[in-house]
Amino acid sequence: MLKTGLLAVALATLCFGQAKKPLDIYFMDMEGGHSTLYVSPSGQSMLIDTGSPGDRDVDRIVAVLEAAGVKQIDYMVLSHYHGDHVGGLEALAKRIPIKHYVDHGASVEPREQVAGFQKMYADLYEKAPRTIAKPGDKIPVAGLDITVVTSANQVIKKPMAGAPGAGKPNAACADFQPRDEARVDPDNPQSVGLVIANGKFRTINLADFTWNSEKDLMCPNNPIGTVDVYLTSHHGIDQSGSPALVHGLRPRVAIMHNGTRKGGAASTYSALHTSPGLEDIWQLHWSWTGGLENNPAGVFIANLDDKETIANVIQNPPTPMQFGTGGRGPGAPGAPPAATTATAAAGMGRGPGRGGHTGPAFWIKVSAQADGSFTVTNTRNGFTKSYGAK
Ligand SMILES: [Zn+2]
Repeated sequence: MLKTGLLAVALATLCFGQAKKPLDIYFMDMEGGHSTLYVSPSGQSMLIDTGSPGDRDVDRIVAVLEAAGVKQIDYMVLSHYHGDHVGGLEALAKRIPIKHYVDHGASVEPREQVAGFQKMYADLYEKAPRTIAKPGDKIPVAGLDITVVTSANQVIKKPMAGAPGAGKPNAACADFQPRDEARVDPDNPQSVGLVIANGKFRTINLADFTWNSEKDLMCPNNPIGTVDVYLTSHHGIDQSGSPALVHGLRPRVAIMHNGTRKGGAASTYSALHTSPGLEDIWQLHWSWTGGLENNPAGVFIANLDDKETIANVIQNPPTPMQFGTGGRGPGAPGAPPAATTATAAAGMGRGPGRGGHTGPAFWIKVSAQADGSFTVTNTRNGFTKSYGAK
């Protein structure tokens, strides 16, 4: 009798899919760098990028891998070769097995941001398979549908099969304003960009893909369709995140992997705040440039700045960033008090060490079901919000 009862419960669970595990996504705080972990319902894992060199970011990644119960990285995607994305790879490869590498091919920049990286990477992929991604390729993580949509500054053209809105004209292209990208580091638009789907749930990660290339991807027709969760391209700095991209994708939730003083550009917030259907912005960090006007309520922010800095910025808001300053520098008039400005200036520029904090950090976790519903959790305060299936 008991056996029959248990069997009935097991069958019911199978039939109605109640036991189906979600896709779990861990957006990690790399202080304005990038690393995001995707764990499939099958248990297979994909990590995109490894943060900056040094122990801080790798320790944070390992802490998340442990929390997620991940024992090996099945697919390691290197979006491009900048220090804030691949800096942690060498150290990480010593701490967890990596089974497969994916990248966009050779770097287009002769100067390496992480000295000796290419040689070290070649040694790694001699021991594990390596795939050079092309738009339209699939990354075969069991239980997920992962499509390469950008790589080596090439974009997917064919509308994605079964994707809502894919192949339709993108109304947000009409107002597209091209930008002078002479100062943009050329490896950024080379970024491997992915759409990751678990059934009806869809999320996009374009790494540091840039503004003018977003037009190539999204105009005049949108090959991707709509997504549920959008990782703000390029940390939310003003070299990416055009309305043509964001409004075309129509995300319900945006997650910004900004640092305290990197990202959070006025143009990024503007595109998000005017995006039809956007329900919430979550951030890995409180944003110095976002100030009082643009930072979301604290429950949506995983890591805060110290109280004095927040108080100073609220009382003496910095001038909004303009394109050309790279979204990194403080405006001159209305700048915060001297101590804050000095700290901020020391934390700007490229590469690691943009200020922020050391030691462990909180992350944002998304759990997504195949029916399209998902929850987002801030591990700092335990705040969770559910977004129902549509
Ligand atoms: Zn970056």
